Amino acid sequence: MTYPTAPGGLYLLALFFGLSVGSFLNVVIFRLPRENLSLTKPGRSFCPACGAQISWFDNIPLLSWLWLRARCRSCAKPIAARYPLVELMTGLMSVYLFHVFGLSTAYLFYFYFFCCLLSIALIDLELMIIPMSLVYPTIALGLVSAFVHPSVELAGFGLWTRLAPDCGPHVASLAGALGGLALGWGALAGVSLAYKLVRGHEGMGDGDPPLLGMIGVFLGWRSILMVILWSTLIGILSAGLLIWFSKGRPPEEGWGRKALPFGPFLVLGALLYLFFGPEFLAWYWGLLGGQPTWM
Ligand SMILES: [Zn+2]
Repeated sequence: MTYPTAPGGLYLLALFFGLSVGSFLNVVIFRLPRENLSLTKPGRSFCPACGAQISWFDNIPLLSWLWLRARCRSCAKPIAARYPLVELMTGLMSVYLFHVFGLSTAYLFYFYFFCCLLSIALIDLELMIIPMSLVYPTIALGLVSAFVHPSVELAGFGLWTRLAPDCGPHVASLAGALGGLALGWGALAGVSLAYKLVRGHEGMGDGDPPLLGMIGVFLGWRSILMVILWSTLIGILSAGLLIWFSKGRPPEEGWGRKALPFGPFLVLGALLYLFFGPEFLAWYWGLLGGQPTWM
């Protein structure tokens, strides 16, 4: 038996690893917010419609959904496209992060961050819940990651040049992540409080401020303003489209739902920043004639 040594083989491994983790995320997304279900019991996956156990050959990422033609083998109820999509997205993200970080602990930390973002977005979209049992441990892990993998992106150049020479790059990087936690959590908690004072009722879920804090830990304090801006823009656009498409449709089809969860949009904003943030910041400051020294 020969093991892959070429980078091509490793990319394939990263894809298979991502697809399998994606398959597990489907379990997390379905079971975590449902109090009568645990992640480990029952040990085998089951059909949410008829409860039939799913055998291993009907539980292979992507492929099973295709050869079952998106229907349960025992009750023939449709299997949502969400299942293969989650697997595909997780597989592709694993390949992308492997490409960026190589086989390293940074790859594992950021892959874990992505898995949490995706799970939270889909749970919030379906049930309007942001599970704190995912957010708090991820914040702790992100702080560890920031200390272990010193990064100018997390600290920003101003903080980096001030802290790194005396306290070391690890502390400077951790400071940037802590700044992201405080700024992200604080900004949304402030908005939420202001809304409550002006309108007299809650306008935002309790989970949104901690979620943005978690995002700030992994993406640094400089990401916060951008993530808020982008997620608000995408949110307004989506709400507009939803109103447009719900015209003339009966309300029981679910198009005209009154409240939209903000979590999925925060996650989209965070992913946009993860892919394009630093390049966007450089381009933006270039337009204004140079980056300020504190950024
Ligand atoms: Zn079934």
